Amino acid sequence: MYHIAADIPESKVRTILRNIIFKKGRLKCPHCGCFKILSVKKEGRYHCRRCRKKFSLLSGTWMKNVKIPLPLFVILLSFWLEDVTVQLAEKLTGLSRPTLYGYYRLFRTHIVQTIDFTPQTGVQVDEAYFGTFKKQANWMHGRQTYRVVGKVCVAGISCPATGQLATMVVEGKPGKLIKRFIRKLVPEDVTVYSDGSPIYTMLRDSHLHIARTHDRGFHNAYYVESCWSWMKRKLFRQYHHFTKKYAKNYVSELTFKFNTRNSS
Ligand SMILES: [Zn+2]
Repeated sequence: MYHIAADIPESKVRTILRNIIFKKGRLKCPHCGCFKILSVKKEGRYHCRRCRKKFSLLSGTWMKNVKIPLPLFVILLSFWLEDVTVQLAEKLTGLSRPTLYGYYRLFRTHIVQTIDFTPQTGVQVDEAYFGTFKKQANWMHGRQTYRVVGKVCVAGISCPATGQLATMVVEGKPGKLIKRFIRKLVPEDVTVYSDGSPIYTMLRDSHLHIARTHDRGFHNAYYVESCWSWMKRKLFRQYHHFTKKYAKNYVSELTFKFNTRNSS
């Protein structure tokens, strides 16, 4: 059952985990936050030089409740990063579906840190609607079509120069929230491009804002639209559990994967 995990040496797994849990892989004492740590090799534990308490690699972290062998944990993590479906992961690992969903949710919540969003020259902003794709029989034509249910509004800021994307699930009136979101992430000397939606016209007092550029035969939302279609393709292929409750987690997972898509 665990044969695929057995090939990775324990020491390598610990290095991988260290880099996931701690910034730059620097061990930190979970009791006092001190960085002066002694490694007790034979016990596989660590010793804080300030408060003198001992701790293990995972204690005090979001992985403290991990109950599967660590090499298998790393395999699951790579499955999640590579978009291996829960169904296939079930076959490959022998773990139950609820367990796998639980681990995928854990990754979704904790691995997905916000990437430093540093836009240059110009950004494209837009909103899109995400939802669950439900199969719907089309009796007339005898084939299946999909319809989107439980839509969630997502605002996106994309920078074609850096290739980065920042997203936010909009809960409430889009106007104010999206404006605040843009002001928080986009420096004032960066030009904001959008479609003609009135949501963005309120930005005029803080940013150089160019809207309705479609009129001039010049399309300024091409990049953010390609981000949406990338995310929707992924969502369509894999996630049938996209619900309002977990929308934030899924959207930040997709954003994280979009921003890291060329790094692996
Ligand atoms: Zn300590």
